[in-house]
Amino acid sequence: MYYDVVIVGAGPGGAIAAKTLDDSNLSVCLIDAKPKEKIGEKICGDAIGKEFFDFLYEKINLEYPDEEVKDRIKGIKVFSPDRKTVFDVKTMNWGYMLDRPKFGQRLLRQIKNVCLMDNTKFTDFYEKGIIVERKENGVKNEKIECKIVIDASGFNAVVRKKVNDDGLMEKETGKDEFVVCYREIKKYNFEYPHHCHIYLSSKFSPGGYVWEFPEGDELNVGIGVLHPAQPKKYYEAYGKFRGEKFLNGEIINAGGGISPTRRPIDSLVAMHNGIGIILVGDAACQVNPIHGGGIGQSMRAGYFAGMTIKKIYERNGKDGTGKISIDDLWEYNSDYMKNYGGTIASLDLFRIFLQNLSDDEINSGMSAGLIQEGDLLKISEGEEINLSATEKIMRIARSIVILSTAKKLVYTVQKMKEVKELYRNYPSPGKFLTWKENVGRVYKDLRRHL
Ligand SMILES: Cc1cc2nc3c(=O)[nH]c(=O)nc-3n(C[C@H](O)[C@H](O)[C@H](O)COP(=O)(O)OP(=O)(O)OC[C@H]3O[C@@H](n4cnc5c(N)ncnc54)[C@H](O)[C@@H]3O)c2cc1C
Repeated sequence: MYYDVVIVGAGPGGAIAAKTLDDSNLSVCLIDAKPKEKIGEKICGDAIGKEFFDFLYEKINLEYPDEEVKDRIKGIKVFSPDRKTVFDVKTMNWGYMLDRPKFGQRLLRQIKNVCLMDNTKFTDFYEKGIIVERKENGVKNEKIECKIVIDASGFNAVVRKKVNDDGLMEKETGKDEFVVCYREIKKYNFEYPHHCHIYLSSKFSPGGYVWEFPEGDELNVGIGVLHPAQPKKYYEAYGKFRGEKFLNGEIINAGGGISPTRRPIDSLVAMHNGIGIILVGDAACQVNPIHGGGIGQSMRAGYFAGMTIKKIYERNGKDGTGKISIDDLWEYNSDYMKNYGGTIASLDLFRIFLQNLSDDEINSGMSAGLIQEGDLLKISEGEEINLSATEKIMRIARSIVILSTAKKLVYTVQKMKEVKELYRNYPSPGKFLTWKENVGRVYKDLRRHL
């Protein structure tokens, strides 16, 4: 069996890579370990901004979600740990709350020419391609020859973990670079229709946050915590705090999940035995490290990955595909990192800043206005913020807690700017290791300072 491209994983990232390649004359295979009708099922907060659909509609004519939209969101409220300060963040556009299984199926329906192989699990590489295990016919160790593999397999990054590339693409990520989550969807008429609630609290969600997102007459509610804390235990404590009406809501669906919360893998591409490797979505850690949103981010990356492949084949011609090199693949690194990687990395630094603050520091920082509501939206969208309010507060701060938090914030914002500049100048392959060291230095500086 031969395909020019194999995409491992048919979640949002893999599906959009497939949709982008759908009109090419390449032979493309999209494999997923799940049976077709279960593709899209995932424990998730289900929230996504409309802007991702605007982008993908323009680029590849992707349909907007329709019957799978369970609710529309017009704002986010962020609560301080003592719940005395609430930031009311208006979204620029309406956001959607999605029924993820139905959404996954909508994405699949839009792929017409790519071959979908469900019940098919990537297990390893062989010298000319990949080895898969197929549930349907009980075949183990079936070989698929290919030139390029896209790893869109989610957090477990099954392909990335098998790549041998002399250190270009890290296999493992740090223990403090993901959150473990427990989530329920329950019958519950949320008190604040069309608003997502986020609650920062080390008591209920150390290193992460509690979310409550309305989905019509249901509520998507969950907790993310830093490993090795157990999210279910914290969730139970939160349920008691929330009260009887909440506890009595019928549970429709429950389960756990893991979300990466770090900068993207430093190189999203590599060569393994002459096979080109491209990472997309959670496998690439292309998730917003502050709120964990990754559906839109994965889809957008899937588009960039697909476009890079199309361009390689246009340049090299279909017959010249044996010549795929790291330089060909690098365009995806440059496009993605210069445009979005820097934003994710800067948010990662902000995540580290937040995780190093105590509840008291967050309470006093939020109530003193060290960060304004508008800043919060800017930060979450990766824009640079102007800290004049913070600097004024630093001059007049009477409390040591506020002064020290303000100083840390100013330093963090400076490092966020530095890291963005490094990503704007994402290097060529030959200068990659020096660039990586420079990024590492910014992280070290920040951690030392906090
Ligand atoms: C609790 C939780 C809440 C979240 N809330 C939100 C939210 O509100 N908004 C948001 O935007 N994001 C949210 N996210 C993140 C979001 O779910 C992910 O970023 C997104 O699903 C990533 O898409 P993906 O295509 O990279 O991977 P996935 O959606 O994980 O898809 C990976 C696919 O690969 C397949 N696969 C895995 N291993 C193999 C293998 N060996 N062989 C073949 N196929 C394989 C899987 O079956 C799956 O279909 C949340 C995540 C969690 C855990």
